Amino acid sequence: MDAKKITEILHALSSKIDKEKEFLTELDNVIGDGDHGINMARGFKAVDAKIDTLETEDIGEILRTAGMTLVSTVGGASGPLYGTAFMKAGMTMSKKTQISLSDFLACLNAAVEGVKMRGKSVQGEKTMLDAMIPALEAMNKAIEQGLTSADVLKCGTEAARQGVEYTKTIIATKGRASYLGERSIGHQDPGATSFTNMLEAVYDYITA
Ligand code: ADP
Ligand code: MG
Ligand code: MG
Repeated sequence: MDAKKITEILHALSSKIDKEKEFLTELDNVIGDGDHGINMARGFKAVDAKIDTLETEDIGEILRTAGMTLVSTVGGASGPLYGTAFMKAGMTMSKKTQISLSDFLACLNAAVEGVKMRGKSVQGEKTMLDAMIPALEAMNKAIEQGLTSADVLKCGTEAARQGVEYTKTIIATKGRASYLGERSIGHQDPGATSFTNMLEAVYDYITA
């Protein structure tokens, strides 16, 4: 997969987030401040515009640019976190003009490490990591089993969705939702949901 396809995938993420923005904001209304969908949609609109001005075959540069754009336009907690995730993913792809499935998993691994570092967070705190980490683990396992790209992505999105379900059962200990303490139980995490949406968009793109 080349730079053109990566640009198309980023546009697909943007339109998915735009479609889900009301729902994401509703989720954030319950356990946060009700801006997650709006923030993310604004950020991805900016990514849409920015990546179309790039004239490069370097996938790393495209991902890094998307990350920097998210940092400067999303705001809140998720802006720096998703921004770091895309920038770290971009660093693993520096100067590369083709991305394989295992490169994609290396990107996701770097993204997880970036979020952990930037958010000082770990799995089980009711954040985006609770979708990202299970998705990464499921896809690594699926790749070892020799599944096709589509099936690997399918395993990843299913694991991410289960991760979202899991966030309903736990107390938030990071971000705004942590102010609610036990009252955060029963509600799914907006960031885990938006990550799952992005993975779904990648799956839809590669299976279209
Ligand atoms: P804010 O809470 O500043 O309004 P958003 O609503 O855009 O920011 O994003 C909230 C999401 O950010 C949460 O649902 C959660 O998934 C994620 N999040 C918040 N803090 C952290 C953290 N320290 N580590 C990982 N993810 C986090
Ligand atoms: Mg919010
Ligand atoms: Mg906010």
